[in-house]
Amino acid sequence: MPEGHSIRRLATMLDSLFTGQVVRASSPQGRFDAGAGAVDGWRVTGTDAHGKHLFVELEPPAGGEPRFVHVHLGLYGAWAFVTADGAGPHAIGAPRRPTSRAPETGTGTDAVAVADAVVPADPADIEAEASAELVVPEPRPTVRLRLLTDTVVADLTGPARCDLIDEGQKDSVHDRLGPDPLRRDADPERFVAAVRRTRRSVGELLMDQSVIAGVGNIYRAEALYRARIHPRTEGRAVSVARLRAMWDDVAELLADGVEHGVIVTTRPEDRRAPRPDSWARAAERATDEEADFRWYVYRRAGRPCHVCGNPVSIDDLAGRTVFWCARCQRRLRSRARAA
Ligand SMILES: [Zn+2]
Repeated sequence: MPEGHSIRRLATMLDSLFTGQVVRASSPQGRFDAGAGAVDGWRVTGTDAHGKHLFVELEPPAGGEPRFVHVHLGLYGAWAFVTADGAGPHAIGAPRRPTSRAPETGTGTDAVAVADAVVPADPADIEAEASAELVVPEPRPTVRLRLLTDTVVADLTGPARCDLIDEGQKDSVHDRLGPDPLRRDADPERFVAAVRRTRRSVGELLMDQSVIAGVGNIYRAEALYRARIHPRTEGRAVSVARLRAMWDDVAELLADGVEHGVIVTTRPEDRRAPRPDSWARAAERATDEEADFRWYVYRRAGRPCHVCGNPVSIDDLAGRTVFWCARCQRRLRSRARAA
């Protein structure tokens, strides 16, 4: 599943391609007929992202209340773009089928099925190239939503959700979600308080979108490693100072992911191997060499920790695969009696 940095990149890309444009909207698959029909011929006025939720804002031709296409890609959702330069579709957040290669390191599906999204290095490139005439491809029958202008086609397939909402409904989506470190309005103290008021494990809490929005399995595993905290540590046992530091670290990692389109969490001094020649943007396709270069523990079960050499551990935690180093990451105990 794409993590928050991919959704932010998608929002930026959709913004650069569609904002200001009148769009033709349709649902070749039929499941979003009413929604697409309602905004067909409307003008896109902006995009927004909060965690893994994406919004495209549209205004009716005669003016009036805006509405929002609200998309959550889930496990299998993807956007594909075709631009006038004929460069062909760029898949973003595309569904990754588990490869035929056995998940040698996994006990759950995450080890192979979780994908970092594929995003063009620079979304602006596409706009710049969009000068020739657009050749509109026949939509695949699975396309939930097609947005079309003179210069670009965007096809959405397989989202967990795609609906048309008004401003009030958009507000309630924001209210349900925890702070997103990529948003300017994010309040880290909400994250700190949400973690500290529970005995649930910090590994589980980092994946809870109402606690912190946008973190997925890769950022979860890596942020906990970088903080040297065992994923099964109770939330209430982690100090305010450590949680604030973790927030800052996640914010920095996410921003880096937005900038580069790929999650790299290792510090240069901790990398044992050089950057591999191949560089698949999709995490699921990452080779062991790429995983070794990019990450401390994610998808590295059984391989030596970059820092201490201990084999990286793997287990299920609340139904998702979690990775950690049993030597580097301590299970903090809560001082229950302390104030
Ligand atoms: Zn270690």
